[in-house]
Amino acid sequence: MAHCCSGNERDSLAKSVTDARDAILAASLPVQGTENVHLGNALGRVLAMDIHAPADVPAWSNSAMDGYALRSMDDDAIRRIIGQSFAGHPFKGRVGADECVRIMTGAVVPEGADAVLVQEEAEVHADRKITPQTVSKAGANIRQPGEDLQAGALALEAGTWLRPAQIGLLASLGIAELAVYRRLRVAFISTGDELRPLGGALAPGQIYDSNRYALHGMLERLDCEILDLGRIADDPESIEAALHSAATVADVVISTGGVSVGDADYIAALLGRLGTIHFWKINMKPGRPLAFGQLGNATFFGLPGNPVSAMVTFYQFARPSILKRMGKAAPWTPPLLQLPLAQDLQKKPGRTDFQRGHLLQTPAGLQVAGIGQQASHIMSGMAHADCLIILAAEAGHAKAGSLVDVQILEGLV
Ligand code: AMP
Ligand code: MG
Repeated sequence: MAHCCSGNERDSLAKSVTDARDAILAASLPVQGTENVHLGNALGRVLAMDIHAPADVPAWSNSAMDGYALRSMDDDAIRRIIGQSFAGHPFKGRVGADECVRIMTGAVVPEGADAVLVQEEAEVHADRKITPQTVSKAGANIRQPGEDLQAGALALEAGTWLRPAQIGLLASLGIAELAVYRRLRVAFISTGDELRPLGGALAPGQIYDSNRYALHGMLERLDCEILDLGRIADDPESIEAALHSAATVADVVISTGGVSVGDADYIAALLGRLGTIHFWKINMKPGRPLAFGQLGNATFFGLPGNPVSAMVTFYQFARPSILKRMGKAAPWTPPLLQLPLAQDLQKKPGRTDFQRGHLLQTPAGLQVAGIGQQASHIMSGMAHADCLIILAAEAGHAKAGSLVDVQILEGLV
């Protein structure tokens, strides 16, 4: 604490994951700037405007099946086929008594018809007549206008993160241009004298700078503008200069390494000159040390150097903050599933555990199992995991069959 400067705080008490995340989210404000983009370039961006349906979707009643458009009131009477309505080629006339129109899925239901008889339920005769095998109810197999969205209805709200389904919906409304929040600029640096770039041989004591690549990947998934500021030696002037210039160009600055107990005092002293930084001991495993705060106008995350800790803390703290700063509406954290454990898990009471796990599809349903070694430098475990198993701070060993909280790492969208 002797080195701590004004505006700096090194909490002596461990902080819970939830308290840390709440504090981080409270300090993470959405970007203000917006820009107009074409829908084709909007994937991964956050909508900055409410979108209302400009017209009914669907715009007209159309068939849900291939079959025959007819009047339900004529029951099972033999019908004469008077024409056809194909997708993009509507039938122009009107369906009268004991008449029908051959119709395909998505084609306009012709005037006069109020039901579609599916083709499997029609006996077709050589003289262009059919005998219905069932009586159609009014509205059968017809998609009504405005069934998806009525004209003027709120289709998507500002703050929606645009994934493929939202892009598809906007396209179905004919929206070509839309306002999105500007991309968040995220700068990152790795600290450590031992780090070497890929490609060269390693001298004893040296390691490859793997966090840079994992971080880059996690940021790309969030569609941020990424500023890779390289590798900084464990030297106060270099770190100060790098963080200072990062904070002038980026909305978020992320460093890895140099925040563990041994380093924190001197980093704390250094960063106190640049902003207000908290040095937290988070009550979690992996990822106990975490620095968070404000560097000039930028949000700062000092993630631990151990590669698994860096990833787990990124997902628990930096990702929610970045999503909120991108303009996304809540939630900023993924849902927690409760799944039965397939095997016992070892744990000491004290800290919230984020064990790397994998999902098992069993005859009894979905279960979850831990992945071998759980130390914070074992990247192969992280690489084989498809989920994190979260065990509460006070919990001890977890027994096979008990329900545990699970965060899925893989997602369809
Ligand atoms: P530190 O947080 O700086 O004390 O580092 C903790 C551990 O993480 C040490 O074993 C470091 O060598 C390792 N480490 C730090 N930065 C990186 C990085 N960029 N890539 C891979 N390992 C790292
Ligand atoms: Mg270090």
